[in-house]
Amino acid sequence: MTKPAPHAVNNTLAYLDGAWRPLTECSVPVNTHALQYGTGCFEGIRGYWNGERLNILFLREHFQRLAANAALLLMTSPSVDDMCAITAKLVKQNDPKQNIYLRPLVYKKGLNIGPVLIDVADGFLCYMQPMGDYLDTSKGLGVCVSSWQRLSDNSIPTRTKATGGYLNSALAKSEAIMNGYDEAIFLNDRGQVCEGSAENIFLVRGGELITPDRTADILEGITRRGILQFARDLGIPAVERAVARTELYLADEIFLVGTGCQVSWVRSVDKRIVGGGVRGPVTERIQRAYEDAVYGPSTAYGSWLTPV
Ligand code: PMP
Repeated sequence: MTKPAPHAVNNTLAYLDGAWRPLTECSVPVNTHALQYGTGCFEGIRGYWNGERLNILFLREHFQRLAANAALLLMTSPSVDDMCAITAKLVKQNDPKQNIYLRPLVYKKGLNIGPVLIDVADGFLCYMQPMGDYLDTSKGLGVCVSSWQRLSDNSIPTRTKATGGYLNSALAKSEAIMNGYDEAIFLNDRGQVCEGSAENIFLVRGGELITPDRTADILEGITRRGILQFARDLGIPAVERAVARTELYLADEIFLVGTGCQVSWVRSVDKRIVGGGVRGPVTERIQRAYEDAVYGPSTAYGSWLTPV
């Protein structure tokens, strides 16, 4: 038997605009506005199987972000309560006994011609698929500073998770892979360190945890917020501030965080080894705190999880 691809979409039940169908039977017309113009707004949510039950991580927080971002982009989403209920029902019906990734999307489903957001009908869908590690969280990543500049807040605001904006991420990530790296780090239009193609970034310098602030054209990551909470709880000093490119080359430790990558440590930036080329002690503490929070035994972060 051939091993399924790690991110293979299996034939689970999915939700599309009020109807439940097998994922393979969900489709939209080719002239859908979102397909033509990238007019959608999405989330990525993880569900962790702990051997007994499936826990959705930050369910409500993701849908609060989605509802707010959709409104910013002149799209109407279902209510936060409704999106949480649809997602819980999706998981319950599919009854997965492994880690999963959930993909809700608010999208312009109208068939109108023309790049405008008003008077174009909105839709909502949500589906799930099995998902293991998105990036290798154990061996250390080789990353590069991208030649592609991060989108700015005045072009396509990266804090909105707009579908069209991910062409920017795709260009950077593709370039990184074509050049033999695992991941790309964006600089913003001020030349400051921003984030990865789908991850927020943390540096450790002199025992202090540093991450670009919320005006650096980053996505205001939900995992990032959780990591800052760990830092407070573990007594690790942390600061949100502008980060210069060369700080990447001088950092003692660097790690990337996000729903997909979880906590992934960086071994080198532009071929310069970070720290000693091993996972650093602060990264190790944060990684352990994350794993304890999502799988147990820690119950201190129980409010982050929604059991299904
Ligand atoms: N930055 C970008 C560009 C992303 O796509 C993601 C993934 N959603 C992140 C950061 C991490 O955000 P979160 O922790 O909310 O998944």
